[in-house]
Amino acid sequence: MINCEGLVKIYKAADLEVFALQGLDLRVESGELMAIIGNSGSGKSTLLNMLGGLDRPSAGGLEIDGKNMLKMSERDLVKYKRESVGFVWQNNARNLIPYLTALENVELPILLKGKRKRMRALELLESVGLTHRKNNKLHQLSGGEQQRVAIAIALANHPKLLLADEPTGSVDSRMADQILDLFRELNRTIGITIVIVTHDPLLAKKVDRVVAIRDGKISSEMLRRKSYAEELAELERGIEQTEE
Ligand code: ADP
Ligand code: MG
Repeated sequence: MINCEGLVKIYKAADLEVFALQGLDLRVESGELMAIIGNSGSGKSTLLNMLGGLDRPSAGGLEIDGKNMLKMSERDLVKYKRESVGFVWQNNARNLIPYLTALENVELPILLKGKRKRMRALELLESVGLTHRKNNKLHQLSGGEQQRVAIAIALANHPKLLLADEPTGSVDSRMADQILDLFRELNRTIGITIVIVTHDPLLAKKVDRVVAIRDGKISSEMLRRKSYAEELAELERGIEQTEE
């Protein structure tokens, strides 16, 4: 799904150059649920922004879903951001509209019209476990519920990749656990590839793989389980073999 090779990002601020990514190598398989951990300033958000097409790398290679992100036209980049990737941030509530209902907030970014739009929004709210809150105004929902609305919106246009930057940064630990459980469930039910950035090593235990980033490079890999997608593929291969 993702292949970063020697990825470099240099920010130029006034007469200062910041080397945020310094030759980062990372591969993410389709269907993986992975976490990237690292201290503040290590380059986590920078990496996620490159993966989401929000900003372009300065050098190196970045291929996502077979597309070369460095050579992509501005127009294709806009299309990529709109159709192929979903984003979740720490303070999503800021991007939601408090006086609209949960359902109306989810409907806003959906590219469909009329009844189909409504149906898709209901389906999304169900996938994040919020059907019972659909007619509540957003400001009546708890922080964790609002984060769920944001996750539903990130999934609105059937992205293949979900990127989450500190998605549990502003909720308590019980809520953070629930949000991680939701990511796991989405990974298993719709097979979406998920990359979560967090500085919380406890949360990172719930994913299939954890890599650490330091000074803009991958410094270590700490956990590697088979992803659900890999397990399914193996199961299918087993069935084919017994049929032969
Ligand atoms: P993290 O998300 O791990 O905390 P970031 O990716 O936000 O780290 O930042 C990595 C480095 O790049 C930091 O030194 C940060 O100050 C710098 N940086 C991030 N964004 C910009 C920017 N837009 N302009 C200049 N420097 C930036
Ligand atoms: Mg960050």
